[in-house]
Amino acid sequence: MTSRAPTYTAQVHARTRLSDHLVRLELGGEGLAGFASTGIPDEWVPLVVPGQFQSRYYTVRSWDGTRMVLDVVVHDHGLVTEWTTGDVVGQQVGIGPAKGSFAPPSGAAWLLLVGDLTALPAIARVLEERRDLPTRVWLETPPGHEGLLPATDAEVTWSLPPGPGESALADVVGAIDWPDGDGYFWMAGESSQMRAIRKHLMRERRLPSAAYDVMGYWRRPGAGRARAVDPGPVWAAGKAAGHTDEQIWAAYDAAREKEEER
Ligand SMILES: Cc1cc2nc3c(=O)[nH]c(=O)nc-3n(C[C@H](O)[C@H](O)[C@H](O)COP(=O)(O)OP(=O)(O)OC[C@H]3O[C@@H](n4cnc5c(N)ncnc54)[C@H](O)[C@@H]3O)c2cc1C
Repeated sequence: MTSRAPTYTAQVHARTRLSDHLVRLELGGEGLAGFASTGIPDEWVPLVVPGQFQSRYYTVRSWDGTRMVLDVVVHDHGLVTEWTTGDVVGQQVGIGPAKGSFAPPSGAAWLLLVGDLTALPAIARVLEERRDLPTRVWLETPPGHEGLLPATDAEVTWSLPPGPGESALADVVGAIDWPDGDGYFWMAGESSQMRAIRKHLMRERRLPSAAYDVMGYWRRPGAGRARAVDPGPVWAAGKAAGHTDEQIWAAYDAAREKEEER
């Protein structure tokens, strides 16, 4: 989550329900024309929805030079979740610069990909763009998302999350029968599961850090401290005082830093 100024503006051109849990947004417009893709298949961008100045990160499922596709998980409640369930077509959003992380070491002989529904867009794009390595995939999603993966030779194992807002991916990873030789392990999902998995990879599998990438994409409800500094009032006070967006973000960041020092 970040509160920096977005780099690009984009219009929502289409919104499609892919499942009960996933909505596809197609973004475009002149403000997105200069978007610089990293070309890295798990690349993500910060998305700022109307009326907000905080962003949430989303994977660029595809970018063809004019149209950006984001697949958004709709969960119980959340800033982007609630916006996405409304009539968003025609609205303007902010998009920040793209970053990517997927980087198999040279000489990797295989690829293991693990994730929950938030990681499905990245895993689907990796399967499309990296067909050169033998690949196995483990996906933890509610039923009905099989059709969202591209045609692939990869061996794919699906499991159900233990409940809404929950994940058991640490158990899934603990049970993997690892291939011989050197490869690359990429994974993303709920943060506390990711922490357990990093320990497993370091202590039990003894993998060098270049051989894996494990990213916490979201926190389960109640896992973190409640947000101590509410951006809404900071925004309203800043606007009322005639401050620029930059000044408001600076004030918000300063207030958060002060709160974190306590
Ligand atoms: C690099 C990166 C790439 C990502 N790519 C994607 C992507 O392509 N698609 C996607 O949907 N998400 C993706 N995420 C995850 C997404 O940024 C978070 O889930 C984000 O918190 C959702 O924002 P929100 O406004 O809906 O909910 P928030 O306002 O952030 O959170 C509200 C509440 O919902 C809970 N919550 C947040 N996310 C989830 C969830 N997924 N399931 C259940 N409860 C949740 C929180 O604990 C909190 O209690 C990515 C994250 C990162 C870091």
